Amino acid sequence: MQRQPLEQLLERLEHRNLRRLRHTVQSFPERGNRAEVIVEGRRLVDFSSNDYLGLAAHPALAAAMAECASRCGSGSGASHLVSGHGAEHAALEEELAAFTGRERALLFCTGYMANLGVMSALADRGEAALLDRLSHASLIDGGLLSGARLRRYAHCDAGAARRMLADGSRRTAVLATDGVFSMDGDVAPLAELAQAARAHGAWLVVDDAHGIGVMGPNGRGVLESAGLTAEDVPALVGTLGKAFGSFGAFVAGPSALIELLLQKARSYMYTTALPQPVAAATREALRIAQRERWRRERALELARRFRAAAGQAGVALADSATPIQPIPLGSAGAALRAQQALRAAGFWVVAIRAPTVPEGRERLRVTLTAAHREDQVDALVEALSRVCAR
Ligand SMILES: *Cc1c(COP(=O)(O)O)cnc(C)c1O
Repeated sequence: MQRQPLEQLLERLEHRNLRRLRHTVQSFPERGNRAEVIVEGRRLVDFSSNDYLGLAAHPALAAAMAECASRCGSGSGASHLVSGHGAEHAALEEELAAFTGRERALLFCTGYMANLGVMSALADRGEAALLDRLSHASLIDGGLLSGARLRRYAHCDAGAARRMLADGSRRTAVLATDGVFSMDGDVAPLAELAQAARAHGAWLVVDDAHGIGVMGPNGRGVLESAGLTAEDVPALVGTLGKAFGSFGAFVAGPSALIELLLQKARSYMYTTALPQPVAAATREALRIAQRERWRRERALELARRFRAAAGQAGVALADSATPIQPIPLGSAGAALRAQQALRAAGFWVVAIRAPTVPEGRERLRVTLTAAHREDQVDALVEALSRVCAR
């Protein structure tokens, strides 16, 4: 393409307040967490990460990584199906299967790739794939990659999903949803969706990227909080770069599903295996998350504290009982201005704009983690009450 059209495209994005910029963020692992970061020379409290359990800068994860690297080296050298599958991967897969109460688990390099893999393996041309309207981009892209016809039901509307399952001219192969919605913090109506999927013979895929490690009495995610079994929800996707402070993702489910993914999921087959030191760090995270339940209790307690204080201060929040707390602002410009004002006040809270959320639904997305202190949460609410109170 010629130069001029690209520049015009970028200018148009800029003009609509939709141009994205990166900022280089420095954290302080010597403190054992990354609640505070330095962004372009300024110290800020980070209320934008998905590091819900405060593990991303935990010294035990770094130590596990270093120890494994000294034994196994840094790179895997090949894909899992060639010669890249190591003992650390195998051990982590077994531990993830046990943690989620499923027959087997399969490691992917990222959650994005796990969703591409599971959707494209389970749905085919000539079939339909049914998704919540606010599903994560990776589920949508996986549906597109499968060649199936994509159909989307109204957000969290299990009745609408059921009607679409019943009225389709094509067989619906897969019904897929986020567990905790990444930009809204609300939870899918999983029991109803499970019933509908089962009644119509569709696979139910739940992507619990933001619930795993955080929600449920034992941190096993929203399926545990909803009391749903592996029969109710056969395919569970979890990510390891959020609550577990590491990197990578997995699909957990029945043995035959995992075996099928090994044969058919191109985002698994045609990519180099995750470095083993990353798997070692994840194993350590899984141990810490199970041993130190205070971490998820604290993230949820701080979310309640934030909501109560915001309510008193007149800051309008969306309805969410998870550590993801959106503040609806209605336009990209308003969200960007709020981001800048908060940054000036010492907080890193990123504006979420289209196409990550629908146009007109732009927001700030605050996330609470086990690494935050109460006084930091209170100070954030105080700043928000100045920046975006009604
Ligand atoms: C972050 C996220 C992913 C992608 O996971 P990565 O490991 O970061 O690629 C998938 N699904 C949802 C719902 C997410 O929020």
